[in-house]
Amino acid sequence: MKKLGIYVQVPFCQTKCTYCNFHTGVVASSRFAPYVEAVCREVHGHRDLLRATGVGWGFGFGETAHTQESLCNEAVVDTIYIGGGTPSLLDPAHLRDTLEAIRSTFVTELVEVTLEADPETIEAEKAAAWVAAGINRVSFGLQSFVDKELIAAGRMHRRTDIYRAVPILRAAGIRNISFDLIAGLPHQTKESWRQSLEELAALAPEHVSVYLLEIDEGSRLGKELLLGGGKYSAGAVPSEDEMADYYEMAQEALGAAGYHHYEISNWAKPGFESKHNLKYWRREPYLGFGAGAHSFSGTERWANAHDAAGYVAAVQNGRLPVEQHEKLTAESALEEELFLGLRQLDGIDLGRIEQEYGVTLAGKFDPLALAGLVKREGSLVRLAPERLSVSNEVFVELMR
Ligand code: SF4
Repeated sequence: MKKLGIYVQVPFCQTKCTYCNFHTGVVASSRFAPYVEAVCREVHGHRDLLRATGVGWGFGFGETAHTQESLCNEAVVDTIYIGGGTPSLLDPAHLRDTLEAIRSTFVTELVEVTLEADPETIEAEKAAAWVAAGINRVSFGLQSFVDKELIAAGRMHRRTDIYRAVPILRAAGIRNISFDLIAGLPHQTKESWRQSLEELAALAPEHVSVYLLEIDEGSRLGKELLLGGGKYSAGAVPSEDEMADYYEMAQEALGAAGYHHYEISNWAKPGFESKHNLKYWRREPYLGFGAGAHSFSGTERWANAHDAAGYVAAVQNGRLPVEQHEKLTAESALEEELFLGLRQLDGIDLGRIEQEYGVTLAGKFDPLALAGLVKREGSLVRLAPERLSVSNEVFVELMR
């Protein structure tokens, strides 16, 4: 049976981080229950909602087309990812109800159920309830172990919260923990970044994501960078070259600590690669529920509207508030194969892609191989591990 991933978006945060302009809101907790009810309603009613919206289902190009009913009925849900926002803010009963809605609607054989959490939201009682509800993986938005950097970024937690939260999760029975770090936070230096990497390795999470700071132009830090000012430490943001150095330091430190680098931004202890996120890079189907959640059938992509209040009202009125819906052309599917596939360090099989799409691609990669940006072994192409910090150059070249 075809495997299906499910993503649930929880668009609420405690505060707004200075660099972020995601569609997440700081709202009264009284808004959580109606939102969760709408998500459960969307899960239960997704077949009718999708049909009414005109979203079709099919597996990838070259495979037999399936109706949406057949995918929803025949596919087995094996991964769930509850992300945000800060979904750990929700009452554990909300999370339990959401997972129950999924279990009672789909055929499930769950191997990975992830909850994104911020360290300051972790309590023993909550953690025990999460495990009882079926959550077996927690992804922490740590970003840094240095308080000066956390404060400047507007994060709610401090270094001590991390050391308090991890033992609580371990005691509750969570055997799969992921840490996110951000390279390039204001006030970060080579020394402070090394400290974060060392402290992370000592806590030995099973999985690590390292992202380069992306500053949204509409965020408070983004506006300060454009217009000037000193409130959000825009003047203390490391340069792009420094961020590239930090990324390379992470590659070295995490490799030395026994992590396998399997995707540009992701490392794992053997066997702990994120099964859910691999679906995104491998273009496998997933259904997203909640405001702003994205879905992919293999041939179509669509997303719900971002506004949480509008989403709740629409679902209560029996509508799916889809604001983006794209039927992929063979050309755009091919682009995705290259861009998403190359993010994985195992690379892509050009032979398979050429056969499936009826194109010749080898010539595109010859100059990149000559420049040392990609490696070729037979029909396999992968990004050169020692040049990953400049991998954007490869993507720019491929777009020409
Ligand atoms: S916790 Fe995440 S989603 Fe919320 S404001 Fe911070 S970066 Fe944005």
